[in-house]
Amino acid sequence: MTAGTSPATRIAVFDTTLRDGEQSPGCSMNRVEKIRLAHQLQRMNVDVIEAGFPVASPGEWESVHAIASEIRNCSIAGLCRTREADITAAAKALAPAARPRIHVFIATSDIHLEHKLRMSRPEVLRQAVEAVRLAKSLAPEVEFSAEDASRSDYGFLREVVAAVHGAGADVVNIPDTVGYAVPEEYGAIFAALVKDVPGVVLSAHCHNDLGLAVANSLAAVRNGARQVEATINGVGERAGNTALEEFVMALKVRSGNYGFSTRVKTEEITHASHMLASITGIWPQPNKAIVGRNAFAHEAGIHQHGVIKNPLTYEIMTPESVGAGESLLVLGKHSGKHAIESRLEALGIELEPEEIEQVTARFKELADRKKFIYDEDLLALVANAPERRARLIRYQVVSGNALLPTASVELEIDGETRSASAVGNGPLDAALRATDTALGLELELVDYHTRAVTVGKDAQAEVVVRVRYGEMEVTGHAASTDSIEAALKAYLSAVGSARARSEGVAA
Ligand SMILES: [Zn+2]
Repeated sequence: MTAGTSPATRIAVFDTTLRDGEQSPGCSMNRVEKIRLAHQLQRMNVDVIEAGFPVASPGEWESVHAIASEIRNCSIAGLCRTREADITAAAKALAPAARPRIHVFIATSDIHLEHKLRMSRPEVLRQAVEAVRLAKSLAPEVEFSAEDASRSDYGFLREVVAAVHGAGADVVNIPDTVGYAVPEEYGAIFAALVKDVPGVVLSAHCHNDLGLAVANSLAAVRNGARQVEATINGVGERAGNTALEEFVMALKVRSGNYGFSTRVKTEEITHASHMLASITGIWPQPNKAIVGRNAFAHEAGIHQHGVIKNPLTYEIMTPESVGAGESLLVLGKHSGKHAIESRLEALGIELEPEEIEQVTARFKELADRKKFIYDEDLLALVANAPERRARLIRYQVVSGNALLPTASVELEIDGETRSASAVGNGPLDAALRATDTALGLELELVDYHTRAVTVGKDAQAEVVVRVRYGEMEVTGHAASTDSIEAALKAYLSAVGSARARSEGVAA
């Protein structure tokens, strides 16, 4: 198949970062973060944004509803089981969307039918059809997913696909839910369905358990799929989903081979990747295709020499084509609120006036400590939720390899000043123990990530922590040129979110 002179067939890109991606460990986001990412997905021009699973919780419903209200240029999907309550909740959450899409799923493999659903094939078929009919009466676009399709009996899968297509499903998704398929086999399912169910629009949804998610998605489009489901940085359950950036760039770089295109603005890929990573604290591995830190780095002298003479010697795509040009030196100490606002806009971030004030204040603090402020610094400042309820006034740590690390902290908690000291098995441990004592709370540090935001010894350390507080797990972020201060502020920001959430305030 070649592109020839005819226009390339368009493949729809369905982004599920906010649903499949968000349900993976450490990737949970609050409403404000989800909306910020949804705007970036719109800017990147994906066709569909799956905003969440509305019936899962009131908070999830609110997030889907908010995204449906704000995003105009993409279809907004909400996931549902075949239950009526799921479908009506999704329809309500999606109602404000320009193009609402109800996405219904039920498993079709015998292993799921026997062990999970405890249902017979005819029951599954009946529920699938009824759910699609109901969804179609409530939304203009309906997608149906046959969960674990790749391990389902083909005859039964074909029967379900034909039935839901007949019941009005606009798109039928054939997921490789467990990441078990290999490209030839997965492609063959699509080829067969295209032949056996004329007129059906098929979608691929792959997991990366064998590292084959992108290869399987490409095999699917080669054999008739016209939609591919993917996530930014390939985040998702277990080993993750099809990486959106890899799939899109494979079609673009090898367009002569595939003859397919997407409407994605590839120059927005790096922004999207950085935004997701700075929200979750989970950065792609350095050698990750397209978005890893080293994806466009040429170290070997002979390679560098070649690239300088002509980039095509070793480069199959330019960094600029995915928006990964030189990190810009953006702002200095004397930059004002408007300069910060316009730079943030260029990075695709729109904030409320009150948030701009907060970011500007944090920017000024940072500019006193750090000479050069890069885009990444700015993104880190935005990602850091302000400390609510509990604020770090000062801390002091005495540490060394021949003495017992000791820390004292002074906090302002709900307007009251409290201080405490503690010893620990390192400076950070001592500082966090002192903070717990000052807060008077029992907290557990579940996860801790840190990284340098930019190059240089004066780079900011960005810290993302995950803290368990009672039954709740919350994430906190902070960045500072002082890594212990960043950790304490991240910890306090998590505590603030947890307390706000436990009191029913939107976090
Ligand atoms: Zn999935």
